[in-house]
Amino acid sequence: MSQPVLIAGAGPVGLTLAAELARYGVPVRIVDRAAERTDKSKALVLWSRSLELMDRLNCTPAFLDAGRRVTGASILTADRTIGHLSFSDEPTPYPFALMIPQSDTERLLEEHCAGRGIRVERSVDLLSFKDEGATVTAMLRHPDGAEETLTTPWLIGCDGAHSTVRKGLGMTFEGDTLPSQWVLADVHLAGATRPEDEISIFWHADGVLALFPITPGRYRVIADIGETTDAAARHDPTMAEVQALLDRRGPGGIRASDPVWLAGFRINERKVKAYGAGRVFLTGDAAHIHSPAGGQGMNTGMQDAFNLAWKLALVMQGRAAESLLRSYGPERSAVGDMVLANAGRLTAAATLRGDVKQAVRNAFVSLVLHVPAVRRTMGQTMTELSIAYPDSPLTAPGGRHSGGPAAGERMPPRAGEPPVGAGDSPRFALFAAPSPEADALAARHAALLEPTPRAPVTPGAMWLVRPDGYVGLVARAGDCAAVEDYFTRLT
Ligand SMILES: Cc1cc2nc3c(=O)[nH]c(=O)nc-3n(C[C@H](O)[C@H](O)[C@H](O)COP(=O)(O)OP(=O)(O)OC[C@H]3O[C@@H](n4cnc5c(N)ncnc54)[C@H](O)[C@@H]3O)c2cc1C
Repeated sequence: MSQPVLIAGAGPVGLTLAAELARYGVPVRIVDRAAERTDKSKALVLWSRSLELMDRLNCTPAFLDAGRRVTGASILTADRTIGHLSFSDEPTPYPFALMIPQSDTERLLEEHCAGRGIRVERSVDLLSFKDEGATVTAMLRHPDGAEETLTTPWLIGCDGAHSTVRKGLGMTFEGDTLPSQWVLADVHLAGATRPEDEISIFWHADGVLALFPITPGRYRVIADIGETTDAAARHDPTMAEVQALLDRRGPGGIRASDPVWLAGFRINERKVKAYGAGRVFLTGDAAHIHSPAGGQGMNTGMQDAFNLAWKLALVMQGRAAESLLRSYGPERSAVGDMVLANAGRLTAAATLRGDVKQAVRNAFVSLVLHVPAVRRTMGQTMTELSIAYPDSPLTAPGGRHSGGPAAGERMPPRAGEPPVGAGDSPRFALFAAPSPEADALAARHAALLEPTPRAPVTPGAMWLVRPDGYVGLVARAGDCAAVEDYFTRLT
């Protein structure tokens, strides 16, 4: 195996990538310019799809123990419920949003990495880098001021919104800072009349107030406080202001105390066009940032890492052609576009001003949220179970068979079976009836395919599922030539 992959940034995304690569036996170094892990709750939600992917790392139980399950979200006014979304019926082992402060997510991931022998090198700054074609030369500065020149086969920028890696690639972070100003309070609330296993979003004439349960009695409060034309403006909230927002926009009778964190923030909606160039990739906030509405930011970044890790491992271990890595950017950029658009729509709806517009919005949302199909689509979007790669170069076109997922879609995990991609080697799984041809195929492609087929979803077809649980190919039952062809293109 070659020299270590260099991961710049040990936030949730860099740590996820390090954990995945370590699982596959890929050597990594992970550096972070910060001396300490964050102690802030920042991203609060882990969605169902992230938890499913974390199953492959075998660390979901630790997160479930540390987090709090929230089973739905309600949009409310002072006197009525506009609509309710339940996650309980989602077809996943994790039909809930797991509320867990980002500080805990990072702690658990870092502990998991440590268990695999990966130590985050703190106070180590990536200063610059140069893609030399066959390798990347990176310049690091250590806490004592010493500079190190490092040669790495791949550099991954997990270094957040102000990414050195993105700037080094000369990429623009296209988009805007929205004019709305926001208050964030991580506080204790007493007298809350809302269910503690629900996210409560109040649409008031003045603006939105959202309450996210964190631990018993502790909540994240978010509210917008109007617009500014000053791009640099930041508002530092006080507890008195938070209390006033709760009194005016909430159901009444809620008292805030014991603040853990008070902050003002602005929303940026920005994204790169390409998620890397040559031997350098971008993931997480380095590639996309957007409104926290929907709580998708960190989840999207972590899923960038899951997408990249198995591809990098297969390429570095000589089991797949380097061209496999070219699917990372298009797949994740399409997801980034969708997340940006959805978060933008949610934010626009929540911050709408004007009595008439708000009345129309409330009536419309109330109407559509009573349609089961709309609720189902929204639930699948929020939980990220509907993420799919229909247009990916890794998706064999036209693959569909009734009763099972189409090519590009997620293969739902099955009870009693390990998730596809679990274990110490990224392997595809073939969901097909057993046959000598399927056995011969598995033997020929032992480096890429699980040795034994799994039961097909329905008779009449077979599904080839990637190590990250997405269907690459759907073919007629027994059409092993289609699978052979798929692997030929991969290698
Ligand atoms: C106030 C606030 C509230 C938020 N709320 C939510 C929410 O509710 N839901 C949600 O999904 N998201 C939320 N987010 C966003 C979420 O925190 C980010 O999406 C997430 O942290 C992105 O993870 P990341 O690993 O990509 O980047 P980061 O967490 O930013 O980590 C990047 C790391 O790279 C390091 N680094 C930077 N430059 C270098 C360098 N040159 N060399 C070495 N290391 C470097 C940094 O020190 C940092 O540790 C919130 C963010 C903020 C600030």
